[in-house]
Amino acid sequence: IIASQLVVPDEINVNWKDIAGLDHLIQELRETVILPIQKRDLFADSRLTQPPKGVLLHGPPGCGKTLIAKATAKEAHMSFINLDVSLLTDKWYGETQKLAAAVFSLAVKLQPCIVFIDEIESFLRTRTQHDHEATAMMKTQFMSLWDGLITDPGCTVIIMGATNRPQDLDKAIQRRMPATFHVPMPSENQRERILQLILRSEPVATDIDFKRLASATEGFSGSDLHELCRQAAVYRVRDLAREDLAREEQSKAKNATNNSDSDDEYVD
Ligand code: ATP
Repeated sequence: IIASQLVVPDEINVNWKDIAGLDHLIQELRETVILPIQKRDLFADSRLTQPPKGVLLHGPPGCGKTLIAKATAKEAHMSFINLDVSLLTDKWYGETQKLAAAVFSLAVKLQPCIVFIDEIESFLRTRTQHDHEATAMMKTQFMSLWDGLITDPGCTVIIMGATNRPQDLDKAIQRRMPATFHVPMPSENQRERILQLILRSEPVATDIDFKRLASATEGFSGSDLHELCRQAAVYRVRDLAREDLAREEQSKAKNATNNSDSDDEYVD
């Protein structure tokens, strides 16, 4: 199960060039997360400069959190395990316990490695008295495995969580994620850059007005913009396909008429 969620650095198909409008955030990530991995010996020297073992990306859906996590792994040349939280919550406690231990042990073997957990709050939300016993035990086990990474100065495994409900995260989890980044809804300027990126190698009109498009798409996330462009492209291709079909039908009809004319001649 874990192997199907694992990507080694050379096979990660996202890099910073695939992300538009978030240059400032990328720069901060480089300083806080990537540099300490690249220059591990310098940072691991003192307890005060330990590389972060927990990173939180928070913000609305579809604004690039997964892209950022993958591109970070790519640049820092780290393996990437995309951990599906439902695997840790759906099964019997004994099974999830083994799976969590296996994920951490695999990550340590592969290090440097990012374990990415989308919707991390669904699994590590604030504990309540109503928590199912198995859920509470799972959280405790997960945190103790995580602490194992934190207390090992040479370890380069990062738990990178993504959420659009950071307020629901358990305080103990928030403490384990000292590096926190907000990935916001794109501004007009950012939408313009995202649109330019999405359409960079598409056969678009030469007079396309990106500024106007950006201003007309207030409230669109990066993912919405991608879907908008996809639909526009599909409409265009459908038009072309329809025109193509109509031409083919016409030429078939023409051939049929010609043939019947020549058949007539033959009969004559
Ligand atoms: P979710 O919270 O729903 O998992 P997310 O924040 O992780 O969403 P992504 O999966 O990273 O969002 O982005 C979804 C898609 O939206 C990307 O595959 C990409 O096509 C597009 N996209 C989002 N943000 C950007 C951006 N800043 N630049 C370029 N493309 C973007």
